[in-house]
Amino acid sequence: MNIVILESDHLQILLDVLRKRGYQVIGPTLGEGAIVYDNLNSTANLPVGWTDEEDGGTYRLKKRNDKALFGYNVGPHSWKKYLLPSELRLWKIKRNGSSFQIVTENEATQKFAFVGVRSCDIHAISVQDKVFTNGQYIDQHYKSRRKDTFIVAVNCGKAGGTCFCVSMNTGPKATLGFDLAMTEILEGKNHYFLVETGTELGAEILREIPHKEASEKQKCAAGDILKKTAEQMGRSMDTTNIKDLFYRNYEHPRWNNVAERCLTCANCTMVCPTCFCTTVEDVTDLTGDNAERWRKWDSCFTMDFSYIHGGSVRSSIKSRYRHWITHKLATWIDQFGTSGCVGCGRCMTWCPVAIDITEEVEAIRKSETISERQTTEAVEKKRS
Ligand code: SF4
Ligand code: SF4
Repeated sequence: MNIVILESDHLQILLDVLRKRGYQVIGPTLGEGAIVYDNLNSTANLPVGWTDEEDGGTYRLKKRNDKALFGYNVGPHSWKKYLLPSELRLWKIKRNGSSFQIVTENEATQKFAFVGVRSCDIHAISVQDKVFTNGQYIDQHYKSRRKDTFIVAVNCGKAGGTCFCVSMNTGPKATLGFDLAMTEILEGKNHYFLVETGTELGAEILREIPHKEASEKQKCAAGDILKKTAEQMGRSMDTTNIKDLFYRNYEHPRWNNVAERCLTCANCTMVCPTCFCTTVEDVTDLTGDNAERWRKWDSCFTMDFSYIHGGSVRSSIKSRYRHWITHKLATWIDQFGTSGCVGCGRCMTWCPVAIDITEEVEAIRKSETISERQTTEAVEKKRS
């Protein structure tokens, strides 16, 4: 893999080249009191010199004492905002005398270039790729949006308070699924990116931007940043035999405990980059001549989500939280061959009552160890 240096002043050229090639360039910007994804026409739109502080139920923007362009972690948005929009019209229907005409929504033709994609989010995109583009049922809307996506990954130069990508083996260094991957380096007055190419298209685009070979020292500097980030993880999760752990504990008392705290607000599912559940709604106008079918994000935390005739299958909070976490960390593995969690930490940061997925796993795991110990002690006592 070719590793080169791109001066930070030349990043604008990358954005211009991508736009000239017909991409809608999307990246991190400041908005709504957070770092959110939006159109990125200029590097001036990046959150220059800003960072975020995250913990359970907490997100704050904070000024850095440098001009870092990507010196923060993930915000409330994820790239599913573009690949799986929160609201999408699937088709329209128009009354035509005594018959009617159906007009299906065209598949997207816009090509996206995502700039600043973190490694955990690349893994999240690949999880949604499995859900929507593998197997028997292909989602053509997702497929058409995903097809020509150009990904510029940016390796994390710091870990957030709720990050645990190291536990999930999804970061902090991007190792797959990118066209270009950059590590931002600030050394005194020097501000540059160490860039790796992941695809031939990435290499082709890079050739249009001034760059030079990276020295061994610069490669080491990037390696040191990533090592430090990996050591700074705000959270961790023991994933050993995690699927069986959940399958053994459908009736664990911890579900009552979490139900006392969970508001079933569904924030965790909205911000999660892998959650993909949707519902469909039909709407008509007052004349009754026109109707539309819309697909909208939904959440397993709502009563309606599991409503079938006669009522909701998961009517208790306990059953809804248990369903969400068990799907994420256990049944997802059976369904899609991968965990549904990439360790991005968003569900903890944006949970209004700071429910922590890593803490819930630990509580269940520890209770087993304790009860195993109690059983062993009881057996030994009986023997003696
Ligand atoms: S876990 Fe937190 S974010 Fe998720 S539904 Fe419950 S209260 Fe809302
Ligand atoms: S479950 Fe939480 S930590 Fe895991 S991918 Fe979803 S939002 Fe991120």
